[in-house]
Amino acid sequence: MAITAIVDTVARRLTRAKLSEVEDRARRYILRHFADTGRGPRIPEIQRHLQLASREDASAMLTKLHAVDLIVYDAAKASIAAAYPFSAKPTSHRVEIHNRTLHALCAIDALGIPFMLDTPAQIRSECFWCHAAVEVDVADGEIRAHRPAGLVAWYPEKDSCGCVATSRCVLINFFCTADHLAAWRDTGPGEQGTALSLDDAVEAGRMIFENLLR
Ligand SMILES: [Zn+2]
Repeated sequence: MAITAIVDTVARRLTRAKLSEVEDRARRYILRHFADTGRGPRIPEIQRHLQLASREDASAMLTKLHAVDLIVYDAAKASIAAAYPFSAKPTSHRVEIHNRTLHALCAIDALGIPFMLDTPAQIRSECFWCHAAVEVDVADGEIRAHRPAGLVAWYPEKDSCGCVATSRCVLINFFCTADHLAAWRDTGPGEQGTALSLDDAVEAGRMIFENLLR
């Protein structure tokens, strides 16, 4: 099955990271905060929520979560740019839940959000080749509606440098048809990866994200 090609996931990085109890509480707080507000908590909010002695302690914790690639922390701005699957900055992968619009780092992350939050969601994105609108509605863990009919997702092997959010994630996209994926691949010789059917892409999103807040 195609999804076995997906090796380095946030779920596996979380397992490998062996976070302390307080680090894991910080991780969960950050994800909940993104889900509720579309952005990460600020340093004083983290300090208060986790009852840390100082802002430096909160900052050090974010640096740790960044080092194991569970979040993207901009230390210079003291702000959380992303926490897989969420992006603080708008992306082309929008996820509507409870009348809120959240932004996901990539197509698979967008599909994982309804599973992580155990809530219905409408994923709105576009074909990476022709920019045609892409819609996937998920409820009760199943695809309820989607368009276009021939929707596929591309999962690249490439993870050239740095964290996933800045390397591989930007290339995990929807394509309205296998033909448009092929047309895009023709423009980038040597682009290695896996084409996922929508079912496989949703299954990958479920697998990677469903246990992150359990
Ligand atoms: Zn297209």
